[in-house]
Amino acid sequence: METPENEVFRDSIGTINEDGKRNWLYPKKPTGKFYDYRKWVSYGLLAFLLAAPFIKINGNQFIMMNVLERRFNIFGFPFWPQDFHLFVIMMIIGVVFVIFFTVAFGRIFCGWMCPQTIFMEMVFRRIEYWIEGDRGKQIRLDKQKWDAEKIRKKGTKWFIFAVISFIIANVFLAYLIGSDQLFKYIKDGPLAHLSTLLSLIIFTAVFYFVFAWFREQVCIIACPYGRLQGVLLDDKSIIVAYDHKRGEKEEGRALFKKNEDRAATGKGDCIDCGQCVQVCPTGIDIRNGTQLECVNCTACIDACDQIMEKVDLPKGLIRYASEDNITKGNKFEWTPRLKGYVAVLAILLGIFSGMMLLRNDVEARVLRLPGSLYEHKGEDVISNVYTYKLVNKTIVSIDDIHFKLLSHKGDINLVKNQGFSIAKEGLAEGTLFIELKTGAIKGDKERVEIGIYSGDDLIETTTTSFLGPRSYK
Ligand code: SF4
Ligand code: SF4
Repeated sequence: METPENEVFRDSIGTINEDGKRNWLYPKKPTGKFYDYRKWVSYGLLAFLLAAPFIKINGNQFIMMNVLERRFNIFGFPFWPQDFHLFVIMMIIGVVFVIFFTVAFGRIFCGWMCPQTIFMEMVFRRIEYWIEGDRGKQIRLDKQKWDAEKIRKKGTKWFIFAVISFIIANVFLAYLIGSDQLFKYIKDGPLAHLSTLLSLIIFTAVFYFVFAWFREQVCIIACPYGRLQGVLLDDKSIIVAYDHKRGEKEEGRALFKKNEDRAATGKGDCIDCGQCVQVCPTGIDIRNGTQLECVNCTACIDACDQIMEKVDLPKGLIRYASEDNITKGNKFEWTPRLKGYVAVLAILLGIFSGMMLLRNDVEARVLRLPGSLYEHKGEDVISNVYTYKLVNKTIVSIDDIHFKLLSHKGDINLVKNQGFSIAKEGLAEGTLFIELKTGAIKGDKERVEIGIYSGDDLIETTTTSFLGPRSYK
């Protein structure tokens, strides 16, 4: 089926030319109100991203994603492998929140909060502007032969890019293995931890590749979130949009003639200056309508507002607006779809809060030794053998630990002595015997409840099964 004429732009992307080769983009340096706001938001987020693995709350790293050991800290709150269900619910809440936000406000996350955009547009791109100059100068420099100026500028830029990539790689490692571990490795010297050094070099190379060369293609080709836009956005979503009604009017867009009365000509307010296209970091023309490539960076809003000011027309030809707002003048409304997402979020948050309240500082598991049966001890005592595992999720050691039977009269005997300690964030494992009088056993298999005490404080309870002979039924 042939693509309609007004949709032909969707057959190709701005970063690939007709020969299928990379079309290098030289976005013009944005200036304006939104760019200034974004700068401040970015400074805050950059400070957060770079500092978060080095901040501690109650001794816990503020944010840590130790995938290898399956230990995660979110806002200083530690999640252990045993808390994986909590972590999964938190991730689901995050995904539903992002979906809700996308349906309501489009790709606002991409333009304002995504680390890729922040590092690309607010760090690497600004260094590039500083060293090579704005769009025109960059194009000239790239066409220029490799003379002393080009070698100096490109060399300086690539060196600074490599240093920043190395810093980002170190911070990334601090998120993965923990900042304490990172500092320890630095102190020990890189050669003492060759595999970590290799990971660091690979991370540095990946970040360098992404920010020095791959750039906007992350958002256009690689990012799965960008691909979801087609199913998430609707006519009510507020996105960076071109007001085609105002921009085109009856006569369509046209160049601006000095002193013309634009309203009387019937021409649209778009003066076809191309500034919105020149500033776009993904190389698209927002006047074609909503596109997958648009990361809602607002650069075209600023560029167009400045042009509108110059030709004395109202600002906001490109603005945050929904298709319904542009075509029908509708304001933002709480659609049933949005209300549905809010309801799902509220339910998930309720479940998560409840589970957090029920979460214990100590995780206990007592399991019967595989393949073992019961054993008679003397005339009237039945004994079962178990393995136990206690996890201390806190950052202080827990002392004087002992087990007591809560559901039955009987004894718990540990192979090692009761009254032991578990170090902070530590684990204790061992073997224990539960001994019950035959008179206390009602069936051949029953649940027994065990209390784990630290001194006189009950810190956790758990249950396990106890086997007895059939004759005691
Ligand atoms: S910047 Fe504004 S006036 Fe210029 S081409 Fe884009 S939409 Fe039209
Ligand atoms: S179309 Fe505008 S908002 Fe979208 S990426 Fe380009 S400049 Fe940014």
